[in-house]
Amino acid sequence: MNARINGRTRLAGIIGWPLDHTLSPAMHNAAYEVLELDWVYIPLPVRDEADLIRVVGAVRVLPFVGLNITMPFKQVMLEMCDEVAMMAKMAGAVNTVHVVDGRLIGYNTDGRGLVETLETEMGFSPEGKDVVVLGAGGAAGAAAVSLILAKASSVTVANRSVERAEELVERVASHARGTKCRAVVLGIDAEESVRSADLVVNATPVGMSPEDPTPIPTEWIGPGQVIFDMIYGNAPTRLVSEALERGASATGGLGMLVAQGATAVDIWSESTQIRTPRDVMRRAAEDQLAARRTKGGAQE
Ligand code: NAP
Repeated sequence: MNARINGRTRLAGIIGWPLDHTLSPAMHNAAYEVLELDWVYIPLPVRDEADLIRVVGAVRVLPFVGLNITMPFKQVMLEMCDEVAMMAKMAGAVNTVHVVDGRLIGYNTDGRGLVETLETEMGFSPEGKDVVVLGAGGAAGAAAVSLILAKASSVTVANRSVERAEELVERVASHARGTKCRAVVLGIDAEESVRSADLVVNATPVGMSPEDPTPIPTEWIGPGQVIFDMIYGNAPTRLVSEALERGASATGGLGMLVAQGATAVDIWSESTQIRTPRDVMRRAAEDQLAARRTKGGAQE
């Protein structure tokens, strides 16, 4: 890898805290090698907003092609970009920045990653479907926006603090056209929507630890439904395992992580000729997970 780095090598990286378990450097560097891009991807662990401001200032003057942003800075990054794509504005979060002549253009590729993975891994198209999104943070916002743009029939946002779900629904509703959007409390109020949903997306961190409960009672889940848990790691979450036991189709978030990262490379390379190889990135992510199997979870 180091033999590739020279005086003209461009930089990309991930900003967040903590980054100890990030899979992105392995995924990205593997793709750059195959695509013969003279880029290198590095972790940029940033503790707080004061440091974030300093790092973003440096990014503007260094030969950066792009950044990924992860927790806890996806929302604040929205304010720090010079331009923000409509999808990221609607989601209320930026997870990808394209650096163009020192200017920062913000995107959100999480939602596109979700829809791409639903289609390729689950054979599921959101068009005309009833969907429940659990959570109302950055990832839930991105999911809701993409599912609306993919013409879901309805999107119900179920969140612990209902005010945040209401804010999200208010933000996306004007773009919703044919999609019915509503907010409910994550609890018994969500039961009817979950029971009748074609797709349930978990965009809360509940399930990251093996001791966690499921974010909803899995008695509400049954055959014919698709359950997508954004959490990824070595073992399936309880939500995924129990949904499968109950006859639903279910998967974790690794495919989405790969697809959102690959979409970022598609944006940075500005080429319609390049389609970033998802299989190469997936293999690199799986190799990293396998290497640390004994050391516990691996969530960004
Ligand atoms: P976030 O902005 O911090 O939002 C977290 C959401 O989860 C909030 O709506 C919060 O509710 C809810 N929540 C937190 N703890 C909860 C609990 N104990 N019970 C019920 N609800 C709870 O985080 P995010 O960036 O959206 O990420 C959410 C999850 O998605 C994380 O696990 C993250 O790793 C994963 N993710 C995966 C991918 C991927 O590519 N696979 C991409 C992005 C994110 P309140 O509003 O009430 O606090």
